Amino acid sequence: MAAQNAQILFPVNVPGAFDYRIPHGMSVHVGDFVFAPIGKQMKLGVVFDIVEDDGTRKLKDVAQVKAAQPLSLEMLNFINWTAKYNCVSPGLVLRMVVRSYKALDPSPLVTQFSPSGQLPPKMSAARQAILDKGAPFPARASEIAERAGVSSGVVRGFEAAGGLRAQTLPVDAPFDIPDAEFGGMELTHAQRQASDELMAQVAKREFNVSLLDGVTGSGKTEVYFEAVAEAIKQGGQALILVPEIALTQAGMSRFEARFGVAPAPWHSQLGDAQRRRVWREAAQGRAQLVVGARSALYLPFPKLRLIVVDEEHDTSYKQEEGVIYNARDMAVVRGKIAKHSVVLASATPSLESLVNARTGRYAHVILPERPGAITLPEIDLIDLKDHPPEKGDFISAPLIEATQTVLARGEQAMLYLNRRGYAPLIICRSCGERLKSPDTDSWLVEHRRTGRAVCHQTGFSMRMPTVCPECKAEESLTPVGPGVERVAEEAARHFPDARIEIFSSDTAGNPAEIAARMARMEQGEIDILVGTQMVVKGHNFPNLTFVGVVDGDLALAGGDPRAGERTYQTLVQVAGRAGRADKPGHALIQTHQPDHEALSALAAGDRERFISAELGLREALLLPPFGKLAAVIISGEDLKRTESLAKKFVSLAPRADGVEILGPSEPPIGRLRGRYRRRLLIQAEPTVNLPAYMQSWRKRLKLPSKYKLQIDIDPQSFM
Ligand code: ADP
Repeated sequence: MAAQNAQILFPVNVPGAFDYRIPHGMSVHVGDFVFAPIGKQMKLGVVFDIVEDDGTRKLKDVAQVKAAQPLSLEMLNFINWTAKYNCVSPGLVLRMVVRSYKALDPSPLVTQFSPSGQLPPKMSAARQAILDKGAPFPARASEIAERAGVSSGVVRGFEAAGGLRAQTLPVDAPFDIPDAEFGGMELTHAQRQASDELMAQVAKREFNVSLLDGVTGSGKTEVYFEAVAEAIKQGGQALILVPEIALTQAGMSRFEARFGVAPAPWHSQLGDAQRRRVWREAAQGRAQLVVGARSALYLPFPKLRLIVVDEEHDTSYKQEEGVIYNARDMAVVRGKIAKHSVVLASATPSLESLVNARTGRYAHVILPERPGAITLPEIDLIDLKDHPPEKGDFISAPLIEATQTVLARGEQAMLYLNRRGYAPLIICRSCGERLKSPDTDSWLVEHRRTGRAVCHQTGFSMRMPTVCPECKAEESLTPVGPGVERVAEEAARHFPDARIEIFSSDTAGNPAEIAARMARMEQGEIDILVGTQMVVKGHNFPNLTFVGVVDGDLALAGGDPRAGERTYQTLVQVAGRAGRADKPGHALIQTHQPDHEALSALAAGDRERFISAELGLREALLLPPFGKLAAVIISGEDLKRTESLAKKFVSLAPRADGVEILGPSEPPIGRLRGRYRRRLLIQAEPTVNLPAYMQSWRKRLKLPSKYKLQIDIDPQSFM
């Protein structure tokens, strides 16, 4: 038999796989984890293909096959697809997949103890305490000792005497098996219909996508739980993707209430041990219910039957660094490769998904109303030209009045502003200087609570200066514009008796503190919650009946073609927080642009009007979903060189019909962390294979070291 070679992909940024000879007698399969030499090092990689050796090259040998569950062909295919589509090396995608090397080995073992059911002749108070307070069993000696208030030695002695039984168990316990029939609500007729449709899709055991399009509070979660139950009944795995900030205790408890067990969580804050456990259990097919942020999509599930993308319109599904990809779109790709169902859920679906639903590529499952007598909030606009706030203030008279009315009824209000800190700009009244980030084109934001000036792009921060760094004038630095801290300060003036709290990513604290604050809000211990984007997701406050939007125009500025869509989505979601229980909700939105289509359609409660206007515009301009976009960012430490590289890159563009290149131009953030940035926008007709075009273009430029060229397919960020 001819010798065979293994094409091994390593989890590093190189263009592709490397060939190695398979030594005689070694059994190597596609998907195996193997060790092979790179230079003087032995590295772990994955066999992507096995080919006949043509005898023309002298190759190094595969050193060893690792005893680990191999990656499936589907997973390899998904890695390749992700790499090609997003114009990155497959090794970088593999690196996203292999997130824990320790997870490839079996769990470490530990000795655990539990009562044997027999009492030794010599019982002491300490031994009795072990039985009384040591549970839950089985547990480690140290855990039992701590709970019982004895030493570990006493626990071991009790075992030697026969009162406890010792077992060797894995440190990383498997996850409990979810029970598809455990709990759940009595669904309304409309919810039942929707869930039946989704369950039927999952039951087909083939690739299909459903858009679960239901107004805020219509019970989308309850409905997709039924699809998850169907996947679990099949003995398969279900993955539920949620925006990272929705991975709260409250969110997780809903899964527990429905399936009787806590799901396996996956997100960026997991410690090593948890990461290792979830990865291994998911890869072995034992974790059947996984709830995670976008990166959970790259766990190597062998038995996936369903992916749910909750809040599918959410921008946090787009990863903006490293491998730039959109987890919502890649979830559909994974479903197609692994032949299973995908459910995209949202109260404000992206136009892309809506068009796919309307053209029949996705099933359109609609929940038009909230269950029971709960109505959707009424939304009104406040034209700031007619109702300007007092000088130096940001809350207009109608907003103050509405808040007062709600508080007088003993209900809760929320003031929404998507700006952290006290003021987005600090300016010197003496010389006009604006405080700027030292290495980035971004204004410093005043955070009064911490007394610091902070760059929201890079995280740079310094003590709030007392003199102007430019002209040295004293007490001349003035905050300009509102942040949540400032709105809360103003609210405290208007409503001196109200209990006011701020909720934003930098005031939120750890998961326990977030849960505590949410509980206080739920129990009515907060009257006014002043919050950013963070309050928009995943919380139900039964007594919150009023939402005031301080700046409804915030997202409309800038060159983002989706600005209108985003504004519409955010405001629907924010307003949707109001009136969740038996009391109707109301939202008031302050704006300078009441005639903007997104805002006026919102106030008219006419989603269809907004969607058709927006789709009309996109179609005319050949913007997504009717045309394709890609962005390129070229960056480096020298401005001139960065500029000339960008121009050179444009000059190297392959000729192609239906492709237009705009730029290079300076993006809103022209310098980031000391690197100058130049941007290109590539607009293409729908028939163009834009990733392939970008890949072939990219190959034409040899980039000097320290300069970077990033391709962003279907960009969501225009900074
Ligand atoms: P969505 O995901 O569409 O915003 P949720 O699934 O979070 O909606 O449901 C909103 C609220 O309504 C939740 O508190 C949920 O428990 C409740 N709810 C949903 N469906 C029902 C139902 N059939 N009966 C009782 N309560 C329901």
